[in-house]
Amino acid sequence: MSGLYLHIPFCKSRCIYCDFYSTTSKENLLPAFVKAVCKELEVRREEANNDIINTIYWGGGTPSCLPVKAIAQIFDTIQKHYQIAPDAEITLEANPDDIEPQFITEIKELSINRFSLGVQTFNNNQLHFLGRRHTGENARKAVMTIAEAGFENISIDLIYSLPQQTLKDWEIDVNTALELPIKHLSAYSLMYEEGTRLTALRNRGIIEETEDELSVALFNSLIDRTTTAGFEHYEISNFALSGYRSRHNSSYWNNSPYIGIGPGAHSFDGKYSRRCNKENLMTYSCNPGHPPHSIEKLNDAERCDELVFTALRTCEGLDMEILTQKFGNKIARHIIANAQPHIAGGLLSQNGNKLKLTHRGIFLSDMVMRDLMIG
Ligand code: SF4
Repeated sequence: MSGLYLHIPFCKSRCIYCDFYSTTSKENLLPAFVKAVCKELEVRREEANNDIINTIYWGGGTPSCLPVKAIAQIFDTIQKHYQIAPDAEITLEANPDDIEPQFITEIKELSINRFSLGVQTFNNNQLHFLGRRHTGENARKAVMTIAEAGFENISIDLIYSLPQQTLKDWEIDVNTALELPIKHLSAYSLMYEEGTRLTALRNRGIIEETEDELSVALFNSLIDRTTTAGFEHYEISNFALSGYRSRHNSSYWNNSPYIGIGPGAHSFDGKYSRRCNKENLMTYSCNPGHPPHSIEKLNDAERCDELVFTALRTCEGLDMEILTQKFGNKIARHIIANAQPHIAGGLLSQNGNKLKLTHRGIFLSDMVMRDLMIG
């Protein structure tokens, strides 16, 4: 067993681009939710098979919305029912406006050793547009408060290709991030997800999506600046100083097993089975330990496609020897044949058994991956 994921579905307000499951009301359900999380951890402990838990990730939603007492109660339950590695990576996602010295002092008493801060941008106009509650200055101060409290493993999230964002704006964001004592940076292109206010604004013609050419320039500038600052570009959207890759996310990309707890949380047994808890706080809280969920059984073609998709996103690339061991020669030959035009076209490189996206291939990764998939 590799990881535990805890989905905390509370937010103080909704950001206009977000399609993650969370609620801004129903705080009255918090005690029942915490109780249900503890019960689900207990009921599903068998799924860990007594394996060591190497990573714990508090995501959401906004885990930093939770009272520290609730975080401690859930932690106690984890420690009671699971074997945690002494050097486990334990990440708390947090919003900059929740980072007060008092909160950090109390969190320090728990075993959390990594923060992932949802900064998104340091530009106040863009933050306001996105519906974030913090300012650029709040974000800078939050990183410093966490660092000064002795947490060294700090990651921040940024978003690029924001409406009306210029290359200069983005360079300021990346430079500001790199001046801070962070060890890890995740940077995502803004996605227009169905059902979000952002997509409604675009559909009504109030905002426009960023042109492809500018998006490529923003991404290139990101890669240049981060790698010059000593960060390794180890996954399409992720950059880390040496020794600070996200171990939890890396386990997703390696197809390792994990247990997801909470409404909307996903789990994977590392082989054939994915589980998804229903996205409903009320039913989750009213069925402690036994939340409604669905289970999807993956066939070989789907598992192979997942391996292709996740491996090609990483700087290690797709190891065809591993793929052949798992899925056989016929499938491997099919993938290699479909890779040939992209190798010839400079979007993929082949080095021994490894297929990797080239710098140019990263921009067309969706198309390349689609062509290599067999499902
Ligand atoms: S704080 Fe995070 S989870 Fe909550 S709405 Fe904003 S982006 Fe989504």
